[in-house]
Amino acid sequence: MDDSNIMGATLPVDANRAGPSTLVKAGDSPLLVDCGRGALMRAAAAGVGAANLTALLLTHLHSDHITDLSDVITTRWVTTFMPTPLPIIGPPGTKAVVEATLAALAPDISYRIAHHADITEPPSVQVHEYTEGQVWDGDEVRIAVAPTDHRPVEPTIAFRVEYESNSVVLAGDTVPCATLDQLARGADALVHTVIRKDLVALVPRQRLKDILDYHSSVEQAAATAARAGVNTLVLTHYVPPLAPGEEDQWRALAANEFRGRVELGDDLLRVTIG
Ligand SMILES: [Zn+2]
Ligand SMILES: [Zn+2]
Repeated sequence: MDDSNIMGATLPVDANRAGPSTLVKAGDSPLLVDCGRGALMRAAAAGVGAANLTALLLTHLHSDHITDLSDVITTRWVTTFMPTPLPIIGPPGTKAVVEATLAALAPDISYRIAHHADITEPPSVQVHEYTEGQVWDGDEVRIAVAPTDHRPVEPTIAFRVEYESNSVVLAGDTVPCATLDQLARGADALVHTVIRKDLVALVPRQRLKDILDYHSSVEQAAATAARAGVNTLVLTHYVPPLAPGEEDQWRALAANEFRGRVELGDDLLRVTIG
C-alpha cells in the first residue's frame, strides 16, 4: 500500500476530491453539513451559493471538516444584500472557533467596510451549540442532533434532517454507537463517513493507522444502516480514496451487512430521497 495514497484521503490535497461536505436540499432550505476544502465550489456546481444557505451544520471541529469556514462566512457576507445572520449549528467549541475565525478575518472585514458604502456591519452569524435534542423546528425543516463517538475528538454530533415525510441522517466521523443508532432509526437515508480498515491496517506508518481508532469501516457503517432500518446508505469521506475500478469491492463490503441501496459518495453525487 502506497502511503501517499492513504494520505491523499485525509488532509493533504487531492486533485479530484474536495473536502468533507454534504449539501442537504430540503424544499427551499439548503443546509450545508460540514465545510471541508472546496465546499463552496462544489455547492456552486450544485446551484447553491453561500447567500442561499439556510444554515451551516458542523458535525465536529476537525480541521478537514471546517477548512472553508472563513470562506462560507465571508462569501455569504459579501454576496448578501439583505443581510441575514447565518445560523451555524455545531457541538460545544463551535462558538470559540467561529469567533477565532472572525478575528482572523478582521483585516478583510475592515477593508470591505471601508470600501463599500452598503457594507457597514461585520459578518453576522448565530452560533448554536448542541450535543442532543431537537434543535431546529422551521416551517419546512426539522433538525435533531445526537452525540457520536469520535474520541478522542469530542464532543461530536450527528444530524437528522426531516422535511415533510422524508429524513436523512448525517453521521459525520464516528465509530458505531447507540446514540447514532437511535437518531438514524427509520430514516430514509444515512450518510456515513467510512474507511477501509483492511487497507489502512496494511500501512506501515502508525500515524496513519491511528485513524482506525475513531472511524467506522464500510462494514460497520453498513451494519449501522441495517440496525437503523434505513433504505439508503451513502458512503462518503473514503479512506483510502476509492480507486477507479474498485467500486464493486466497496459495495460488496457494504452488502455483507446491509441489503438496501448503497451509493458511493463521489463529489457532486446527487441522491434523491422520498
Ligand atoms: Zn474527524
Ligand atoms: Zn473527517
